[in-house]
Amino acid sequence: RNDSSESTSVANDKVLDELIPPEFDERSCLSRYHSVLYRKISSHKPSPLLLSKLRNYENLHKLCGPYTKPYNRTLKRLKSGHVHSTTECKYIVWRPDNGLGNRMVSIASSFLYALLTNRVLLLDLGTDMVGLFCEPFPNTSWLLPMDFPLRNQFRNSELRYAHSFGGMLEKDRINILMKSTPSYLYVTLKKRDYELDKRIFYCDQNQALLGKVPWLILLSEQYFAPSFFLIPSFKKEATKLFPEKETVFHHLGRYLFNPSNQVWRQLITRFYDAYLANAHERIGLQLRVFHANAAQIQTVMDQLLACTLKKKLLPEVDTRNSVASSSKNRTASKAILVTSLYSEFYRNLSNMYLANPPLTGEVIRVYQPSHEGYQHRGDNKHNMKAWAEIYLLSLCDVLVTSAWSTFGYVAQRLGGLKPWILHKPGHGIYLPCKRAMSMEPCFHYPFSYDCKSENKLDAGNLVPYIRQCEDRELGVKLF
Ligand code: GDP
Repeated sequence: RNDSSESTSVANDKVLDELIPPEFDERSCLSRYHSVLYRKISSHKPSPLLLSKLRNYENLHKLCGPYTKPYNRTLKRLKSGHVHSTTECKYIVWRPDNGLGNRMVSIASSFLYALLTNRVLLLDLGTDMVGLFCEPFPNTSWLLPMDFPLRNQFRNSELRYAHSFGGMLEKDRINILMKSTPSYLYVTLKKRDYELDKRIFYCDQNQALLGKVPWLILLSEQYFAPSFFLIPSFKKEATKLFPEKETVFHHLGRYLFNPSNQVWRQLITRFYDAYLANAHERIGLQLRVFHANAAQIQTVMDQLLACTLKKKLLPEVDTRNSVASSSKNRTASKAILVTSLYSEFYRNLSNMYLANPPLTGEVIRVYQPSHEGYQHRGDNKHNMKAWAEIYLLSLCDVLVTSAWSTFGYVAQRLGGLKPWILHKPGHGIYLPCKRAMSMEPCFHYPFSYDCKSENKLDAGNLVPYIRQCEDRELGVKLF
């Protein structure tokens, strides 16, 4: 944090990084304006086309947002079941699934889809994501109203299937394609099942049909944004909006996800100012252990040390001389921020640096904001902590993250960092970690067949800017 240049950087950021819509009141969302005091200004600038697209989107959202006249009119079409002419406003209703990281990468992908199809994005945040984020669009809301008529079907899988894209096509292909357009459709792009939905969604010819449906109810826990750089009808615009391909989530994430005043004041800045602000360097370690048990945690701990010591991210300790340490570097300090559901990593690292001085002579301090033990489903406070920790990680100078984890993906992309990714234990060659080559999240389950020939294809081999992920062989990402 550089206090001397606070006011200049705030002013610069406001002028230079025009991601922020001009109409907002600063007090309603402090993080949007003050984050620049906590992290380096991004060297990646949004393209002028993206900025004008966002300003147009904000106008569209204001025009079509909840309880506006066009919203009420389009809502009436829901009852009739079908539409015979185009509606002035069209919507994507996003539904939550899985943990916070998964939800955030899926919201960002849905927003890109909304931008490319001139739809309005409305979120059903349930009860456990309330109060996490500021409203991103001025003078309107991105929250799906509580009285949205289809809410009572959301949990009914039979009804969902009956009104799903795949389900409808399978049942009565001719009718849906030739005669009338349904007023709403469920589209499910999840990792497992729903193959038909996925096949249909990712095939260009079906996008034209989808384009006519006023209400799309979308359920996905994936970062499916890279697919728009492959689907022919979106590819040209997507590549123009993002000439720097690896900045899609970096820009959309910073635009959409700003911590609410409560999360910003009580969880993020309080922790940062108390523990991280005065260190010379902040090292973020995100340790996600899937199927955790003591042996697994120990494996990840060994891996973490092998990675951080070998790559010189953390200093080695002087095991022969446990009392006095080298006096050079006594003034240098590193703060290690550990985020994990478990406390073992924090304990082991703190003990290691308490028992033996670092060979570099630096002062090392280790912190962990919470250790929740397990993923609490449906718990608002738990999600607030998770969001604060994702954000704190994004404020670090160096990051080490866990393979396959969207929690880590969001942190690195908000911070514009290329982390060291810990290899997933038990998967292939043993390497403790490798450096990410691109900031983008990994799309874990890309489509894998060609729409025309119906042959299998490798989505990581079609264009030079989409390649296999560093941490997952089956996944692809933008470079
Ligand atoms: P992923 O499963 O690693 O891809 O990440 P998700 O965010 O989708 O789901 C994991 C969920 O577990 C998070 O949203 C949190 O609820 C919880 N969780 C996992 N790791 C941490 C952590 O380091 N800190 C906190 N507070 N929660 C965590």
